[in-house]
Amino acid sequence: DDARTLLLSRIKDVPDYPKPGVMFKDITPLLADPEAFAALTDALVELAGRYGATKIVGLEARGFILAAPVAVQAGIGFVPVRKAGKLPGATLAQSYELEYGTAEVEVHAEDLSAGDRVMVIDDVLATGGTAEASLSLIRRAGAEVAGVAVLMELSFLPGRVRLGEALGEAPLDAL
Ligand code: IMP
Repeated sequence: DDARTLLLSRIKDVPDYPKPGVMFKDITPLLADPEAFAALTDALVELAGRYGATKIVGLEARGFILAAPVAVQAGIGFVPVRKAGKLPGATLAQSYELEYGTAEVEVHAEDLSAGDRVMVIDDVLATGGTAEASLSLIRRAGAEVAGVAVLMELSFLPGRVRLGEALGEAPLDAL
């Protein structure tokens, strides 16, 4: 539809960034366009309603930018999933495999509770490793995964497959 066309027109393909052979999806033109940013926020708020979400989790770093206005507009709390070593309080940590090596994400355990239905938001689903680790954190915190929403899914990568088992009954939506 019109909103989707507008959003996709504001994402810039940057070849060979951050390294040769990678086509980077740059969302900064979308963020700089207030109409597009508002349309994206509205679409995500609608999804949050469909999911019955009671918390919004944003994934560092671009996920924070997309998720925060959704949380405010939906009237529910925002919880950051951060790269290891950035959160000052008691955290749950989850490591995951990268192409070369491993990475780790963390969440403040007290920000999520049993009974929470959590919507996860990020800009791009690539291999699915970050999202998979984040779903694990949410469940270990005792909360339920209500759904995962990304602006873009890189369909030439097996992100949806990797995430399949971790999603269980929860939906994965790409706008
Ligand atoms: P994954 O763990 O391989 O799915 O990678 C997803 C993470 O990497 C997300 O947090 C994205 O923000 C980031 N990412 C991967 N590829 C791109 C891209 O082309 N544009 C922007 N972010 C990307």
